[in-house]
Amino acid sequence: MEQLHARNVVIGTGAMGSATAYHLAKRGEPVLLLEQFAIGHDRGSSHGVARITRHSYADPRYARLMLDAFRAWKDLEVDAGQNLYLRTGGLSFCPPQVDYVAQVAASLAAIDIPHRRMSGRALRHAFPVFDLPDDTDVVFEPDAGLLAAARAIALQRELARQFGGDQTRVLAECPVRSIDLEGNKPVVLTDALRISADRLIVTAGAWAGRLLPQFPVALRPTRQQVLYFRPNDPAPFAPGRFPVFIHKGADALDDFYGMPEYQGCGVKVARHGGPEVDPDTMDRAIDPAYLEIIHHFLKRSIPALVEASIERTEVCLYTTTPDEHFRLGSRPDCPNLIMASPCSGHGFKFSCLIGRVLADLATQGATDIDIEPWKL
Ligand SMILES: Cc1cc2nc3c(=O)[nH]c(=O)nc-3n(C[C@H](O)[C@H](O)[C@H](O)COP(=O)(O)OP(=O)(O)OC[C@H]3O[C@@H](n4cnc5c(N)ncnc54)[C@H](O)[C@@H]3O)c2cc1C
Repeated sequence: MEQLHARNVVIGTGAMGSATAYHLAKRGEPVLLLEQFAIGHDRGSSHGVARITRHSYADPRYARLMLDAFRAWKDLEVDAGQNLYLRTGGLSFCPPQVDYVAQVAASLAAIDIPHRRMSGRALRHAFPVFDLPDDTDVVFEPDAGLLAAARAIALQRELARQFGGDQTRVLAECPVRSIDLEGNKPVVLTDALRISADRLIVTAGAWAGRLLPQFPVALRPTRQQVLYFRPNDPAPFAPGRFPVFIHKGADALDDFYGMPEYQGCGVKVARHGGPEVDPDTMDRAIDPAYLEIIHHFLKRSIPALVEASIERTEVCLYTTTPDEHFRLGSRPDCPNLIMASPCSGHGFKFSCLIGRVLADLATQGATDIDIEPWKL
């Protein structure tokens, strides 16, 4: 077995690991990125062309963190010389007995983000494809939009190479089999390498719990199914006319989201949540019952999509903590092991910022971003 020493080892090349590598390399740090599958694979949580971004959070702590996250994406766009954020506007809506929209509006007001609260009736006037009952509670955030997910992740790895040159190494098809924390430095074992790391950053997504049994909270991978629709008349579903949206129902099985047609993929619609699975043996086919659930949602909210054909489908993983909050940082007894939970179903919009935070923690042991609510 070959023995290696590395200053910074990052496990995982998804959204979080690629962002961490970019931020480390940008500050002159050498990085060794390890990935168990091919680069850009579709077996984790980060594949797909786009993700929703928004300040619209019921929990004001996430809304506030998004101020830093929007800045981090802007800085990345400058470094990359490319635009990654598409402003589409975003709707959050719920039935009148649910207080989600009231909380989102309060969070947006607290951080001075422009927004407009309206009824289902006013929404039908503003966006006629949404056919919702008059008493639906709605808030519109003009700055919500899309992030070009796959392109952003690839660009961050590319920038890590540009900033780091030979100091940035990416090893694909290189599964980490175990992590040894017994000595004074973490040791990572792959099939062919024994790597002793000054700092080890674990961004292993749905596999993190298995790789790090010492992660202080349980991590639960769940299966998510995503549908892309091809409407007969695509014009009302184009960015600029159709916003990203989030529907919060009265119970957890009644949460849906979607986004406009983007890069020829169709209009994305999905239900938030799914059954717990083993990430290695997850079924990749869409359940017929799930199609029914989505059609039922479309009938009562976006009827113009009911007859649309399904252009493509995706199956993907969320990984949640028991309280569904992020967990970031290191354990006091092991400061050179830095861990990031995979941030449930809403981590992508924070990923560029989280990469910066993990790089701060690795290189300075602290960060100026307020991560107090999510610290391990
Ligand atoms: C369907 C879906 C829709 C979503 N929509 C949104 C959205 O609209 N907005 C938003 O903000 N967020 C969204 N999210 C959440 C967001 O995409 C995730 O929070 C984010 O992608 C998680 O990235 P990650 O790097 O932690 O995990 P991953 O992308 O899964 O990366 C982990 C990587 O680690 C590798 N790995 C694991 N174990 C090992 C090992 N032993 N050795 C080597 N490599 C290993 C894996 O192969 C993988 O490549 C969505 C998620 C899904 C699934």
